[in-house]
Formats: sequence, C-alpha cells, structure tokens
Amino acid sequence: MDNCIFCRIVAGTIPAKIVHQDDQVLAFEDINAQAPVHILVIPKRHVAAVQDCADGDQALLGKLLLTCAEVARARKLNGSGYRIVTNTGADSGQTVFHLHLHVLGGRPMGWPPG
Ligand code: 5GP
Repeated sequence: MDNCIFCRIVAGTIPAKIVHQDDQVLAFEDINAQAPVHILVIPKRHVAAVQDCADGDQALLGKLLLTCAEVARARKLNGSGYRIVTNTGADSGQTVFHLHLHVLGGRPMGWPPG
C-alpha cells in the first residue's frame, strides 16, 4: 500500500534500522524509542491489525511472535525480561495501521499500561 509507512519501509523507500528480516517478516528499530530496546516486528504483507487476521494467518502470527523472542534474545533481554505489545484500533493507541509487535526492554515497566 503506497500510503502505508511500514509498507514503504518494507519496500525500502523509507529508511529504517533493520535488525532482522526473512521472506515474511521485518524487524526494525522504532523511530521514537520508549525503552532502551524498542523494536517493531511486522509482516511484510500488509495487514492492518491483529483483528484483521484470519485462520490462514496462524503461521504468520506465530512467526511474528517467535521473531520477537529471537530479537529479544539477540539483545540479551532474556535475563531481565521484556514486553511484547500489539496495539489494535484507536482506543489502544494504534497509530500505524500495519500490524506490528513492539518489543520493549532494558528497563523495568509498570502495569497497567496507560
Ligand atoms: P502504534 O502506536 O501504532 O502501536 O506504534 C507505531 C510505532 O511506529 C510508534 O512507536 C512510532 O514511533 C513508530 N513509527 C512511526 N513512524 C515510523 C517510521 O517512519 N519509522 C520507524 N522506524 N518507526 C516509526
């Protein structure tokens, strides 16, 4: 989608600090990091949010979660822990409507989130 920021990152027309990719998923540094480690993990194919996924997306969703774990392991977050978040829809605070999982770590976090 031409007007989707994350599709443009996938296409390489917007620069990003890419930390991992394969044929299905891309992981890159968040431009406005909210923690010492803040990485976004996205499907290369455009899907707006998790609520728009269907049964056929089971493998992709599993892959996204496993990629989050791999990225966190690479940043040595396994010992201290980390958070995986996906905002879905306006009330959640989603601002980019291309499915993404935030991997946040490197500092203690509060609960509940604001
Ligand atoms: P959301 O609020 O939709 O859950 O998260 C969107 C995230 O995308 C935000 O944390 C925001 O900082 C990040 N973001 C927005 N535009 C860009 C961009 O052009 N490049 C990168 N790397 N991150 C972006």
